[in-house]
Amino acid sequence: MKTFRKRPDRLPRAWIVPAAIAIFLVVALFLSFLMARVVLTMRDTGNQIDNLRATNAAHAALVAAEKRLVGTVHDNAAWNSAFKALEASDPQPWIEENWGSVSADYPLYDGVAVTDPQGRLIAGYLKGEPADLVSIMGPEFVAQAVAAAHLGRSAKRHEFRVKDDIALVASEAVRPEQDADPARAYNVLTFLKLLTPATVDSVAGDYQLAGLRLTADEPAKDELFLKFTDPKGATLGYLAWPGRNPGTRVFEEVKPILTGAAIVLFLLLAAVLLAGFAESRELRRLAAAADHEARHDSLSGLLNRSGLMRALEETLSSGGQVPGLTLHLIDLDGFKAINDAWGHSVGDQLIRAVAARLTGCHPDLALVARLGGDEFALAGERGTDPKQVADTALAALVQPFRIGDRLIELGASIGYATSEPAMDAFELIRRADVALYRVKETGKGRALAYTRSLDRDREDVALLEDQLRRAIDERTLEVAFQPVVSAQTGAVSGVEALARWTADRGPVRPDIFIPLAEKAGLIDKLGAVVMEKAIRFAKARPGIELSVNVSPLQLCASDFPESVLSMLEREAFDPGKLILEVTEGVLIASPDLAQRAIQQLRARGIRFALDDFGSGYASIGALRTFGFDRMKIDRSLVTACQSESGLEVFKATVALASALSIPVTAEGIETPEQARIVRETGCQLLQGYLAGRPMSPLEFEAYQSSLAGAA
Ligand code: C2E
Ligand code: CA
Ligand code: CA
Repeated sequence: MKTFRKRPDRLPRAWIVPAAIAIFLVVALFLSFLMARVVLTMRDTGNQIDNLRATNAAHAALVAAEKRLVGTVHDNAAWNSAFKALEASDPQPWIEENWGSVSADYPLYDGVAVTDPQGRLIAGYLKGEPADLVSIMGPEFVAQAVAAAHLGRSAKRHEFRVKDDIALVASEAVRPEQDADPARAYNVLTFLKLLTPATVDSVAGDYQLAGLRLTADEPAKDELFLKFTDPKGATLGYLAWPGRNPGTRVFEEVKPILTGAAIVLFLLLAAVLLAGFAESRELRRLAAAADHEARHDSLSGLLNRSGLMRALEETLSSGGQVPGLTLHLIDLDGFKAINDAWGHSVGDQLIRAVAARLTGCHPDLALVARLGGDEFALAGERGTDPKQVADTALAALVQPFRIGDRLIELGASIGYATSEPAMDAFELIRRADVALYRVKETGKGRALAYTRSLDRDREDVALLEDQLRRAIDERTLEVAFQPVVSAQTGAVSGVEALARWTADRGPVRPDIFIPLAEKAGLIDKLGAVVMEKAIRFAKARPGIELSVNVSPLQLCASDFPESVLSMLEREAFDPGKLILEVTEGVLIASPDLAQRAIQQLRARGIRFALDDFGSGYASIGALRTFGFDRMKIDRSLVTACQSESGLEVFKATVALASALSIPVTAEGIETPEQARIVRETGCQLLQGYLAGRPMSPLEFEAYQSSLAGAA
């Protein structure tokens, strides 16, 4: 047989830990992301706020410088002396004295240009030296100067390039302090203030703009700047300075802390991850172990019932690819007795040894299971001859087992079945079980394959059981009476009550329906019906003893003595006339229960006969212990008297009973020859077809009359 395809173990809830870890990781990463965003936003916002402040400050500085320049121009332009001087024929000396020389070293302006209303230079000075500022600053400046010649327009101011420098330039019409003529064009005074490194430095100091510089080049990307353009919009240069970026500075300062925190967080996450994986693996391992445990028998290490069930289900449900399964159910014979006799430790070792042997004798077999107690199972895919598998297993188990220094012999009964298409595991097990049941019922130590007739038999049994139950309930069960006669005189000393039953299909022998009643739990009721009918029969015939058979199950029922006594009382029957026949099997199986019942009933005058003596264990010990009043020698011993040795056995048996002072009844006397032998051997009573067959009450009536007639 080939091996089973094993499906991967199902691991319920093993996903929980990874899922929890994943959620934890996502949450942790999301929170980290948020924190990083907050920190970076704080950094950038801090930078932006400071940049804005710095830019505003620089702008304000420039505006202030321009205002100052405009103010200075205004103070000098609306000035009577200046107006008069410029109206004079040669204003040059006045200009030089009052403005030109001043421009050499004056904080408010660095250069001065006086132009006529058409923008032509009258006089120009730069840092105290004459300079043609109109040429230097070009046509755009002329436009500003011409525009400023008219009043009513505010002082014109712009930035211009003056040689290498950028200059703030403001112009205003030079006019009398009062009553200036708005319609007229005046000469124009222009002051210019150079933006030199020194100026820039002082602005930087005043407005906290470290690194402020004037440059013609475009500032670097991370620099802040203000752009200077001439009136036409052309770039003159830049006032640039590095941003202080306080946010970045704070960020840089806390960066080690943040880095540390990030590392700690990372380590934490890594630890959680590792722990989670370890935990998850452990859970998987535990789940697999629990699953294994749930499927296996701890004593033998084999699959247990549910493990076998699952394996069968999986294989059977995997359908087409698998040709089918053969299942052998094995029941050990005699294990219980060994367990009882030698103790559980030996029993456990024996179970392990059996498991090893079963596994060993079919190493290629797919499944070996222990279903509990002393039941095992072998299962495999169809292929090998199942009968051969069974025979090998039987042969293996018949070999004695050595447990410690004991040599123990066992046997086994096997029932097996092969799956059919679309059959489920339950049905396969049921069929093997039906076969096993039949083996155990009909003699152990064999193997039997399931056939449909087994099921039909079981159905028949179920049907029969039903009818028997009805026969008991409706009391249609009948009782036959067989005479028990004196071996010497042939006089009827008593009768044995024997149950008789006619089922729907015809008469059924007691050998069949008595065990059936025992199995179906009907034996107590059956026994009561027989006993009652028998007592009523015997009551009408004084001088006759009544023997009634009692099944071991009946005898061991706790209420048996009570029910017998109460019936005797109810029927007013003399207990001294009642003999109960029991077989020796019960004395060995449940000696305590049997003894209690026997003692209790004997105390009330009821006698006991040991039935079928010689057919089984024939224990002399039992005879003595239980104190029997009579011994019935089994028919098989009587039949055996034909041979010399059989006769000797018979004689010895009777002698044994005599030695114990127990009167003997010989059963199954069919011939006068047998009657002679038993009489000569010393049997007191005999019973058999010779003296009379079991009879119905009516027949017995006739029988008695014929006897009376003969006498
Ligand atoms: P048993 O107690 O040994 O009963 C004697 C059996 O031997 C009876 O079989 C009887 O018909 C048969 N027999 C008697 N004389 C002869 C003979 O000369 N030759 C042959 N070949 N057989 C003879 P039966 O009636 O078929 O009963 C079979 C067994 O069923 C009984 O064996 C007894 O164990 C059991 N049984 C019968 N009735 C009852 C009952 O009411 N209760 C219980 N518990 N068992 C009963
Ligand atoms: Ca009997
Ligand atoms: Ca008997």
